[in-house]
Amino acid sequence: MKKLYFLLPFVFLACKSNPSTVSEKASKAISKPLEITYKVNETEVSDFLKYLSSDELEGRETGTKGIEKAAVFLEDFFKKNNVKPYFSTYRDTLTNFKSPAYNIVGVLEGTDPELKKEFVVLSAHYDHIGLEKKEQADIINNGANDDASGVTAVAQMAKYFSETKSNKRSILFVFFAGEEKGLLGSKSLVQKLKKQNFNLYTQLNIEMIGVPMKRDYLAYITGFDKSNMAEKINEYTGKKTIGFLPKEAEYQLFFRSDNYPFFEVFGKPCQSISTFDFENFDFYHHVSDEFKLMDIPHMTAFIQEFLPAVTKVTTSTTEEITMNK
Ligand SMILES: [Zn+2]
Repeated sequence: MKKLYFLLPFVFLACKSNPSTVSEKASKAISKPLEITYKVNETEVSDFLKYLSSDELEGRETGTKGIEKAAVFLEDFFKKNNVKPYFSTYRDTLTNFKSPAYNIVGVLEGTDPELKKEFVVLSAHYDHIGLEKKEQADIINNGANDDASGVTAVAQMAKYFSETKSNKRSILFVFFAGEEKGLLGSKSLVQKLKKQNFNLYTQLNIEMIGVPMKRDYLAYITGFDKSNMAEKINEYTGKKTIGFLPKEAEYQLFFRSDNYPFFEVFGKPCQSISTFDFENFDFYHHVSDEFKLMDIPHMTAFIQEFLPAVTKVTTSTTEEITMNK
């Protein structure tokens, strides 16, 4: 998540929100949810996250050799799982950053001859804030929660779709760079896609899902009232997967991650999904945002619960997720 300068002084002091403020709008199930037999593998989730947030990658700051290692790792993951490069290679060079920096972009073409012309974007940012300048025992901002956890979720979803071939629409899998520098990766890529008349249906961007919330829903989306995405996801899973977190509205998180440039340019439902609620994790942009604090069973369960939702998003006969008027 892009730095929240304005709230840092009071984030951890002033946010005891009332659980009864949970919206009931997002909890009613309508059609029968999909049964998914595929099982997300906890060990794979753990191994992937462990490497991406390891000291070897030195906090994955955009433009450094640490993030280069992450880029190679993500390219290898796509290759191994038969996700094709969307451009001539997996690398999409940022047009707005001084040193070489790359989004990593893969695609799985949809199986339906018509629906495959429409794209669903599943994304997360793989950059983080790098090394601390001042001398201290630990100087590496590992960014396990922010946002190696989201990258892990998107990677597992890519693997699921690659193996099951259950997407009728095409899916663009994007690992953004430059998010922490001001959403640079998404701002750069969205311009390129717009020029190519990219046919976007919706974007689900995943941010900080490494630790569970103590709430009666699994996750929240940013910009809850902007579309019916929460309602549709809950319909697709048959669960209270998405709820309304008042803090996301108060801090306007909708504008603070890589969903926003896509929303701005395409005007489609582009939102971020998170389980960081300002109460469950004390190490936002801190050297202690480390692998050992991540809840692997929670992450695995999160990915598993989203599989029927993302499957339905990519297979519904019409574009059911729509902007609210
Ligand atoms: Zn961040």
